[in-house]
Amino acid sequence: KYYEPHQVGFQSANSGGKIPLGLKSKSLRIVVTGGAGFVGSHLVDRLIARGDSVIVVDNFFTGRKENVMHHFKNPRFELIRHDVVEPLLLEVDQIYHLACPASPVHYKHNPVKTIKTNVVGTLNMLGLAKRVGARFLLTSTSEVYGDPLQHPQVETYWGNVNPIGVRSCYDEGKRTAETLTMDYHRGAGVQVRIARIFNTYGPRMCIDDGRVVSNFVAQALRKEPMTVYGDGKQTRSFQYVSDLVEGLMRLMEGEHVGPFNLGNPGEFTMLELAQVVQETIDPNARIEFRPNTEDDPHKRKPDITKAKNLLGWEPKISLRKGLPMMVSDFRQRVFGDHKEEEG
Ligand code: NAD
Ligand code: UDP
Ligand code: UDP
Repeated sequence: KYYEPHQVGFQSANSGGKIPLGLKSKSLRIVVTGGAGFVGSHLVDRLIARGDSVIVVDNFFTGRKENVMHHFKNPRFELIRHDVVEPLLLEVDQIYHLACPASPVHYKHNPVKTIKTNVVGTLNMLGLAKRVGARFLLTSTSEVYGDPLQHPQVETYWGNVNPIGVRSCYDEGKRTAETLTMDYHRGAGVQVRIARIFNTYGPRMCIDDGRVVSNFVAQALRKEPMTVYGDGKQTRSFQYVSDLVEGLMRLMEGEHVGPFNLGNPGEFTMLELAQVVQETIDPNARIEFRPNTEDDPHKRKPDITKAKNLLGWEPKISLRKGLPMMVSDFRQRVFGDHKEEEG
């Protein structure tokens, strides 16, 4: 039997920690590590809108103040520049732990730092959760399945990961983060949740982070050829960011530890994705083939039966519906960039 939630901070003292978080009457104090990043900032928007107090902890490696500055005047919002590799003392009810570069270009940039963030950073946030009795949610990744030998991927699949490759800092780092999370749960009774996130896209993605959706969209807008790596027949399943945020919040509020796959089962080859981008932005956008990167997984598609059954969650927004919303954000930012360059 694991601990009931300890409602610290703003939660009503006489709730005895027994009121389901979804039905709480008072607002919670929530830390979002990596909250100035792409996914984190959308999560922060939802938590603030719900009435919670949110502390964003971010070292701005890939995050940007612009993603959260619309909350600066809100007294329920706080932004702390801090690296999670260093210990942190706060009093909170929930921790959404997202801090970690997510794009291959960024996480390969300083692989040792990526591992430290995943291992030492996660350890620190679990230590914090243990000390204050907060509930802890880890954003793990579909990369824990490596180049999967099982398709689609179910949570019970242990994965096919190269421990010494160029992606290992990220996928082995996240696997260790999952291990730490479960060990704090079993050993110290920390309330934990684990999400395995599949490729996600949407407004506020870094324009030049090298991920395939941001690359294709930025390239098509700039009238540059879309760079397809390898033969373009590898597959990914693309989830719109609001679907992911809904899944993360349901997971945090629910009663199940996980791990849960959170992704959109719609599977596309990179050539098919390029086609959807052409349909959305420019039918004349060109495609250019480039050599593929090392250890690139051949296919990826989530089995989301578990999340459907236990969280009552499934994605609502298809790629063809979600892409235009991302494109209008990118259009503004790419256009803004050009103006700056010209000026
Ligand atoms: P992102 O790069 O936009 O956000 C990560 C944030 O973490 C950034 O704001 C960055 O500055 C911050 N950060 C990085 N290292 C830090 C450190 N040591 N200390 C403090 N802050 C640090 O990426 P994202 O797409 O928003 O991803 C968020 C989380 O979701 C990551 O943990 C990522 O692994 C996970 N995830 C994302 C995807 C996806 O497709 N977007 C897929 C699987 C998993
Ligand atoms: N930690 C933290 N904030 C806290 C509590 C702990 O950053 O509020 C860090 C702490 O510095 C340690 C890690 O979390 O590096 C693990 O803490 P824990 O208490 O589990 O282990 P210990 O300190 O005994 O190694
Ligand atoms: N990719 C591509 N062109 C690009 C960037 C990526 O064809 O400009 C491919 C990449 O080889 C991979 C897929 O798109 O097969 C997804 O790559 P991404 O970096 O977005 O995410 P991840 O590999 O982490 O799933």
